[in-house]
Order: sequence, then C-alpha cells, then structure tokens
Amino acid sequence: MTLSTVLPGATLGVMGGGQLGRMFAHAAQRMGYFTAVLDPDPASPAGLVSHRHIQADYLDQQGLAQLAQCSAAVTTEFENVPADALSRLAALRPVAPGAEAVAIAQDRAREKAHFARCGVPCAPHAVIESELQLTAVEAALLPGVLKTSRLGYDGKGQVRVRTRDELAAAWRELNQVPCVLEKLLPLAAECSVIVARGRDGGMVHLPPQLNLHRDGILAVTEVYPGSVPPPAAVEAIAATRAIAQGLDYVGVLCVEFFLLQDGTWVVNEMAPRPHNSGHYSMDACDLSQFDLQVRALAGLPLPQPRQHSPAIMLNLLGDLWFTAGDTETAPPWPRMLELAGVHLHLYGKHSARRGRKMGHLNITGESVQAVRATALQAATLLGIEAF
Ligand code: ADP
Ligand code: MG
Repeated sequence: MTLSTVLPGATLGVMGGGQLGRMFAHAAQRMGYFTAVLDPDPASPAGLVSHRHIQADYLDQQGLAQLAQCSAAVTTEFENVPADALSRLAALRPVAPGAEAVAIAQDRAREKAHFARCGVPCAPHAVIESELQLTAVEAALLPGVLKTSRLGYDGKGQVRVRTRDELAAAWRELNQVPCVLEKLLPLAAECSVIVARGRDGGMVHLPPQLNLHRDGILAVTEVYPGSVPPPAAVEAIAATRAIAQGLDYVGVLCVEFFLLQDGTWVVNEMAPRPHNSGHYSMDACDLSQFDLQVRALAGLPLPQPRQHSPAIMLNLLGDLWFTAGDTETAPPWPRMLELAGVHLHLYGKHSARRGRKMGHLNITGESVQAVRATALQAATLLGIEAF
C-alpha cells in the first residue's frame, strides 16, 4: 500500500520490541503518535513503553493482522524480522523499509552483490555454499573471516581462519550453512554513516561516526569534525547514499565501513534500521536517528540534521553489572551523573548478562577536549576500559 502522510494522533507500528524499537516509540510518542509493537517477549523493552504490545511470533498470522489493523504504517527495528512477515504486512499497510531491502540486508552474499552493483568496494570475498566452493577458495583470501550469510550479529557467527584446514573445520563448526569468506583486512579504524530517505527519494545523512569495537561488539562511538578522516568521511557519505538509492530505500539505513591502514576504505555491511553507532544523535543533533525514522515512515519532511555538540557514546554492556563479582550490582549511576554533559539511556531490561546491551551513555560538551575528558572520567567510574 502506498502512503499519504500519516499525521500525529495516528498509530505507528514496529516489528520487534528491542531497545531500537523502544527509542523509536519514544521519538514517535514525543510527536503525538501512538505506537504498537509486535514481539513475543512479554518484557520486551519496546513493548513495555508502547500503547499496544502484540505478544506474538513474527510470523503469527493473527498477530500480523492485529498489528496491521491498529497501525497506519509499520517499520522494523531488527534486521532479522522475516522478510515474509514484512511482505504480508505490506499487502495491508505501508511498510518501510520494504521487504526486499530488508531481505538483501539479511544476507551477506546478497548484500555484497548489491554493494558491487552500486560501485562501492567491499573486502575480497567468496560465497561458500558447497564443498566445491570451499575447495575452490583462492589462497589470496587467507587469512580470512568466515561469516554465516544470515543471522550474524555482534561478531557472532564468525570464525577467523588462517589455513584451508582451519577454513574447512570452521565451516563444519558453523554447520555448513551458507557463508561468506572475507579476506582479513588490516584495519586502521571503523566508521559508519546513517542516512534517512523518504518516499519521494529525498535523502539526508548524519555525520560519519568513528566506531571502536571490542570482542566484535560496538564499545565507543566518537562524532565530531575530523573524528573520521575527511576524505574517507566524504566518500563514505556518498557511498551510503548510493547504496540507499540503489535499494530505492525508505527509512533509516546504516552502512559500516572499514578504514584500511593504506588510507583506502571498503564497505563492511549495512543495517536496514537505526544503529547502535547512531545513538549519539539523540543528544548531539537537532534530529536523532529515531526522529528521522518516524518522519520517513510517516511521510513527513526530512530536513538535513545538524550536530550541535561534539559527542562520544559509550555502550553499557551487562558486564558492567558484574565488576564486583558474580552478583548483579547496578553501576554507580548517581556518582556518574554528577558529571556535566552526561546523558544516561537505559533500556529497561530486567536482568544483566555479560555482552547484553543494557543501555548507553552519550557525552556532549563545548569542545572535543571537554567531551573526551568527561567520557574518560565516566568510563573509569563505570569500569569501562579507556579508549
Ligand atoms: P556483525 O554483523 O557481527 O557486526 P561484522 O561483519 O561487522 O559482523 O564484523 C564484526 C567486527 O569484526 C567488525 O566490526 C570488525 O571489527 C571485525 N571484522 C569483520 N570482518 C573483518 C575483516 N574482513 N577484516 C578485519 N576485521 C573484520
Ligand atoms: Mg557489524
């Protein structure tokens, strides 16, 4: 279904009840929308703050019908929502991003083919779906990273391999599901770019984000002029725009890049939704990535966002609840909140687990120097390794 503008007062639906859905719901509600969430988990972060929580499986016929019935338009907050569910919803209501774009982003092999179609370089790689393809792998791809084509996240579903024997063993370890083998590249840094594209093809972007990963999980994002070196920053924005354009994308799209030690860059992967690396925009920009998601979904104008403060985002993983041992203890929030320019975001998850994303901290301030100093102080107080 196509869309006329959905005005405040209507209900916006979201597939998935994680933290990204929760922050979408907050942004939508601030503008006077009602929200509906479909997620099987009774305690899902977005379900807890939405006007309606349809507690059903993502492919549940009745659940999808209910979501469509109560929503004027539907978006998604996690990329592994079955594309089939989006297609079914799309028969009843406007859905953004569309099922086809989400299906491409869900599959590393299709994703890389799309990057190639858009003329954007990615890591040398080979698709491995059969023994034949496994043995035919060129030596130049080793050492490499074997990644499952589907369902990988936060470094899960990946194995680093040095030799052909290790490659064969890794594929068996991954149950011989379809995979992509990527050459291991000498990274200097990683960055990402978020764009929002409307139904009319109008597109805006957030400033490029410099990302530090630890154990495959995003740990720190820094965004200020020069945090991503200027030539790469400009080129990454152009590449992200081309990728969104090529998908005829509607909504918020994040593209991750590797900056290589020789000064060149390649695209890594994309997410058809707001992204952890874009959380700084909630406190450092006049439009956050969630505001953009609401506007793109509702068919509202998308003016170019402006960053009004340098920003550093620190991810708050469940590990921080266990710095004193095996009993779960909340980090010292009151002491940390004494610091000026600190914005605490917690996702309402009932229990902490190591590696679980519990919240994030945005630090803003007058200068890059001030923001860095505060971020390091906060990190020390919370037990986050310095960066
Ligand atoms: P995920 O879906 O888990 O985010 P990614 O493909 O982004 O998977 O990989 C996670 C992290 O692993 C990357 O952010 C990067 O730090 C590292 N990595 C992945 N692929 C490569 C590669 N080809 N060369 C070097 N490092 C890599
Ligand atoms: Mg990634």
